[in-house]
Amino acid sequence: MSESVLVEQIYPRLPVFLQNAACWYYGKKEARTRFGNVFEQRLRELMDSERWSAAEIEAYQNQKIRHLVRHAYENVPYYRERWKSLRLSPEDIRSRGDLPKLPVLTKEDVRQNCDRLVAQNVPRRDLVFRHTSGTTGKALHFYVTKAAIAFQWAVWWRHRMRFGIEPGAWHANFTGKKVVPLDQRTPPYWRWNRPLHQALLTMHHLTAEKIGSVIEFLNSQRFEFYSGYPSIIHMLALHASEAGLVLNSPPRAVFTGAENMLDFQRRDIQKFTGAILSDQYGCSESCGNASHCPEFVYHEDFEFGIMEGVELQPGNPARSILCTGFANDAFPLIRYEVGDTGVWQEAGSSCPCGRSSRALLRIEGREDDYVITPEGTRIMRFDYVFKDAMNVKEVQIVQEQLGEITVRLVRRPGYNAGDEAEISREIQRWISPRLAVRFEYVEEIERQPNGKFRAVLSQLKSPQLKSKTDAPVAEQVNR
Ligand SMILES: [Zn+2]
Repeated sequence: MSESVLVEQIYPRLPVFLQNAACWYYGKKEARTRFGNVFEQRLRELMDSERWSAAEIEAYQNQKIRHLVRHAYENVPYYRERWKSLRLSPEDIRSRGDLPKLPVLTKEDVRQNCDRLVAQNVPRRDLVFRHTSGTTGKALHFYVTKAAIAFQWAVWWRHRMRFGIEPGAWHANFTGKKVVPLDQRTPPYWRWNRPLHQALLTMHHLTAEKIGSVIEFLNSQRFEFYSGYPSIIHMLALHASEAGLVLNSPPRAVFTGAENMLDFQRRDIQKFTGAILSDQYGCSESCGNASHCPEFVYHEDFEFGIMEGVELQPGNPARSILCTGFANDAFPLIRYEVGDTGVWQEAGSSCPCGRSSRALLRIEGREDDYVITPEGTRIMRFDYVFKDAMNVKEVQIVQEQLGEITVRLVRRPGYNAGDEAEISREIQRWISPRLAVRFEYVEEIERQPNGKFRAVLSQLKSPQLKSKTDAPVAEQVNR
């Protein structure tokens, strides 16, 4: 029986105790991969390298790059053939500064060359198959090793340890996975994954009518932290606040990732939990990561991979993020175009936390999530427009044609015509005075196939305005 049949058809029909048993079984298996000897060793190393100087970091990365490029050239057919055709050899890449000599690897390259990206010297039994549905719904297949999974988890736990949370701490994980069947009408709206010390709460059950039971459950336990997508934890905070419910034993920290945290989400989650909110940025392909330090600045997790920023347009501080991963020998991703953009801190500036790894001011999300104004500016973030819009529950900006946008909005009870006028004024003030604004009031905002919330959705038809992320990209060599 295939795993998907089990997950999609059998699991939802099981009684709750058997669903918990299934979560336990899954958790036990996952715990072995995530938290074995490799994890322990990696975490020790990460705690040690955390305070390295810029020179030490550079030497480490240069050595890693030389090793990675040689490995890819000797063992990975895709890289060998592509680089050979460009007359590139491992000797050309001696340091981090040489990376731009190598071509960019797009998602489409990975889709079309999945088998040829597998390293021939890694035993098949070491490969774990992974796929991501991505925000566009186009599947991406790849492989990781168990050692790479453990390395990734060590990076994530180092982030949590910066805020005083130790491995093994009990937590509530807010997930888009359907661990609680969608049609369930009575509690429990959660399942236990005890081997990983977590309770799983699904976004589908964080509704106004069920929120009472959910908060009662959270109050009956002692969770040291919450983790999950910011948009899901935001739903919890919103519904509970509206119902006048409070957390009796709030978590010490809330760790988010996978989506951009928007200002209004941060405001509501902070107010409801009173906890420290800390974010990390990564991709499911396990090749690059950046995590908040106690100053809430994103630092590249330089031991895990290199993040490069490639200019999108002259004058635009946001750069396209390329990742080169050090963890996954089985399926190396070199200069992989993740499809997100970020703004780096100027070279040479230092963070008050004392870490010397490169820092990002912000991560702006997907490259193609932007609105084009009549003036030609690309706007990726609208959250400052809604900073004071207290009667707005959730909002998504959609652009279907040039010159106008649709504000898709879920209202709070107090919302009225004055709010609408104020939002229009703010958009004209901050975004463009010539942009036509339409309002569409909805009960909820639909998530992407992978459960992610997109704050800005571009549906422009013209191909030259569309994203380059999913389109085939011509050979790019920046020599
Ligand atoms: Zn810092």
